[in-house]
Amino acid sequence: MNLNIRDVYNKQLPVDLIKTNAVRQVYEACFSTVLPQIPSKPKVLHVSKEVAALLGLNEEDLQSELFLKVVTGAQVLENTHPYAMCYGGHQFGHWAGQLGDGRAINLAEVEHDGQLWAVQLKGAGKTPYSRTADGLAVLRSSIREYLCSEAMHHLGVPTTRALSLSLSGDQVMRDVLYDGHPAYEKGAIVCRVAPSFIRFGNFELFAKRGDFQTLQVLTDLTLSEFFPDREVGTKNGYLSFFKEVVDKSLEMVVHWQRVGFVHGVMNTDNMSILGLTIDYGPYGWLEGYDPDWTPNTTDRQNRRYRFRNQPQIVLWNLYQLANALLPLIEDPAPLEAILNQFTTNFDDQYLTMMRSKLGLDKKEAADSRLVADLEKTLQLTETDMTIFFRQLADVHTAMVFDGENGFVELIQDAFYAPEDLSGQVLAEWLSWFERYQLRLKAEESDTSIRKMAMNQVNPKYVLRNYMAQMAIDEADQGNYTLLEQLTSLLKNPYSEQEENQKWFAKRPEWARTKVGCSMLSCSS
Ligand code: AMP
Ligand code: MG
Repeated sequence: MNLNIRDVYNKQLPVDLIKTNAVRQVYEACFSTVLPQIPSKPKVLHVSKEVAALLGLNEEDLQSELFLKVVTGAQVLENTHPYAMCYGGHQFGHWAGQLGDGRAINLAEVEHDGQLWAVQLKGAGKTPYSRTADGLAVLRSSIREYLCSEAMHHLGVPTTRALSLSLSGDQVMRDVLYDGHPAYEKGAIVCRVAPSFIRFGNFELFAKRGDFQTLQVLTDLTLSEFFPDREVGTKNGYLSFFKEVVDKSLEMVVHWQRVGFVHGVMNTDNMSILGLTIDYGPYGWLEGYDPDWTPNTTDRQNRRYRFRNQPQIVLWNLYQLANALLPLIEDPAPLEAILNQFTTNFDDQYLTMMRSKLGLDKKEAADSRLVADLEKTLQLTETDMTIFFRQLADVHTAMVFDGENGFVELIQDAFYAPEDLSGQVLAEWLSWFERYQLRLKAEESDTSIRKMAMNQVNPKYVLRNYMAQMAIDEADQGNYTLLEQLTSLLKNPYSEQEENQKWFAKRPEWARTKVGCSMLSCSS
């Protein structure tokens, strides 16, 4: 394996001087050097060849004993110094103090084709930041991260990537429902890859502690490595860096709303400074379009991280980042000015995105009403978001509402209770359909061109919650067929795939209340 190791963080950031894995508070340091735990019987289950290619790894590398050892923590590459990063964060709205990479170990930074990649193992053992937990991960949550991060990438959503999914051969104890029924599960390790895993929480921790020196070193490194157009060491540079983080985070959340992704735990320690979707835990996909839905049972009471709240939560998190950068910028006014723009910018970009989902090229003043009314109508009866928008591409200006080859027939596949489509509900749909058709008439684009454009923003296949669970149930039995099929399916989420039509279907009834499908805890 001929990796071009850059070792950026080790060389440029202050390191924790105490060299033990003991759980503790770490001060004036951005990371601690750690070693992965040796797995007892490591086995690679799946590799993303695309991600391997990003790092410059070829087929032969992937087959090697060394690869197996490196991606499972069994061996550390020469000239590398694995480390866990120190960060804090606001969890569910409250400052939680030091958190850090409790079960993530960064192996190294690799440069390939001019791009820097941080390579990280998730579930490879304890670090000084493991707090009361074991630093390990189970197969269930590792499959969810592995499948979803790659699926998101192919959907065009900014995200961290996944190189490999492996079994450690060790057993890990978890209480899935937090109800006093712990059981052993298979331990697993995902090797994740991203330009950087730095989070809002990295900056927050030093600011909260009044350690402005470390804060500045971290910020300067972040700018010079990841925001090369920004001036390092000046207030203006920091400010324009912040503006870019705001824009990137906004772009990310608009994508989430486009595809129906609910992150589930948008704590500031789970917010990437690069605007990447990061830390796939109790996430979920909207099936029925319900803006109040959250998959995370830990958040069931307040539903802070429900689908509709995600944009405001991004903003809330950006406020925390602004507070963290304030010691470097000193004047809150320009930070506030940037934050004050967020809502207007979000509304604009959201509307643009929704227009694209509806196949509307032109901008008309009444479009925001049309979108808002669609969102309301979608909630009248449980309506599958993915199926609905995909079917919408077949609407044309001469289409009838309720008759052969009409609108109702077209979209009824999306209704979980088609029998509800009568009376007032039907009348509301008719009203929306008539306005939509009228609106389409104002477009000049041809129906087939519109359909093509819509099919590039409205995915046909997403990782429905039950699909991941089926792959998990099989994998638990040692069968990885579905894991392989889903990885391949989700590489082309916008394409018609004849042989995969069965995945373009509503969630089966059995999955409605099944743990792992619609209900997920943070246990992972
Ligand atoms: P999360 O909710 O997964 O984003 O994790 C929040 C914090 O808990 C982070 O500092 C994680 O590194 C840590 N953490 C989560 N799970 C574990 C685990 N199994 N072992 C050690 N630390 C963990
Ligand atoms: Mg996390």
